[in-house]
Amino acid sequence: MSEEKSIIKLENIEFYYNKGLPNELHALTDINIDIKQGEFASFFGSSGCGKSTMLYMISGIDKPESGKVFFNGYDVSQFSPKEIAVYRQMGVGLIFQNFNLIPTLSVLDNVALPMTFLGLSNSKRRERAMEILDYMGIKHLAKRLPYELSGGQQQRVGIARSLANDPPLILADEPTGNLDSANAVKTMELLRDLSKNKGKTIILVTHEAWCLKYVDKIFYVKDGMVTKSESVEPQDLSLIGESKIIEGRMQGAHANKNNFEVVTEYISTFFFRGYSNEEVKRSKEIIVKRISGAISKDDFFNELDKPFKDGGLGLWKQKAKNIVSAVEEIINESMDISTIYKSLQKYPGMPLKDEFSDVRKYLLEIYKGRTSDFILDSFDECVQERVRSIITRDNFVKALSLPKSVGGLGFSYSTALKISDRLEVLLSANLSQATI
Ligand code: ADP
Ligand code: MG
Repeated sequence: MSEEKSIIKLENIEFYYNKGLPNELHALTDINIDIKQGEFASFFGSSGCGKSTMLYMISGIDKPESGKVFFNGYDVSQFSPKEIAVYRQMGVGLIFQNFNLIPTLSVLDNVALPMTFLGLSNSKRRERAMEILDYMGIKHLAKRLPYELSGGQQQRVGIARSLANDPPLILADEPTGNLDSANAVKTMELLRDLSKNKGKTIILVTHEAWCLKYVDKIFYVKDGMVTKSESVEPQDLSLIGESKIIEGRMQGAHANKNNFEVVTEYISTFFFRGYSNEEVKRSKEIIVKRISGAISKDDFFNELDKPFKDGGLGLWKQKAKNIVSAVEEIINESMDISTIYKSLQKYPGMPLKDEFSDVRKYLLEIYKGRTSDFILDSFDECVQERVRSIITRDNFVKALSLPKSVGGLGFSYSTALKISDRLEVLLSANLSQATI
């Protein structure tokens, strides 16, 4: 199958900025990667780790100090200047974060411009450019100037332009970085469509974890090195739905007021079944006070303990104690998760064995069966993938509950569900403020 054929291969790439000068920077170290034809690959890592530099190597904008870049099996460093020019014009389409449109040219001419190279007549170029704009759903904008368009529309022109010479390979450098959520989602959907329905190979550079839902393969980049590569299970994106993705993108930026509800619901189902609506409502208010950090652990106990007429719940002391320890456990574990989450955002490839082992202990508390090292390792991987939103909640449950014979962990479905509920509570709690 052509899908198995390599389109881009980097071998032992080393690259320096300002080589030999006092401000020398070893920007890429021993890069070895292989990207297959038709693959939607991504370089994922924090700002400044060398992602764009890798694209410069691949597109021939910069040359490595040592090592080789292969395009369809051909050593790019052996290309003649003419071949390099052809490669850069015809082999690769580039998409940028800030669109890079020429402000004085119409949308149509921006898209037609790269075709100059093909030696087509002016009218032929415009005809083809119009076809591409049509495909992108922005034919009606052809006569406008870039500044007359929204960011989302400009990026669609940018994508159209990258397709001008019908290159097999498209390199997209943070294409969603300057877009609002809805347009960012559209852009990712367009890229995925190009990959799945037009057979394009796409290499996406991003530091936004939610984008990874769309790709087939992730190369984690850190300090100029690829620390890990990982194939992503194909996901049915229609099941995730646009709003969920947007939600995922928003997470972290804002306080998660609604997420307190997830925790209070969870506690309620365990401890307040059969209580009156008034009591359940009161219990939630008290729990929110604690998880938002408004009251201390001791005050939390007191509020659960004191009579209802005084604003408390009048619970038995033992029951109040149990609730306090359940909530404290969630607070502690969710802080672990949030530390893990932050570390992963900063250093996507970092091993977090110790941090995970605490979370794992908590998640598996309800599981009484036996576990092997292999199962525990696989379990940690599933949790990591879920923490990074690489897999959905449903797929997490599936991974845990499928039989070992088909690559699952072999938990019973109900255990998998319980573990998943525990994890989701931690993920949505985001309780870093509850520290008193
Ligand atoms: P990323 O795309 O992951 O944000 P880059 O590839 O742009 O990272 O940059 C990698 C490192 O190289 C960064 O430390 C950056 O400051 C540095 N760098 C990038 N371009 C240049 C340049 N032209 N001259 C010197 N240093 C550069
Ligand atoms: Mg960059």
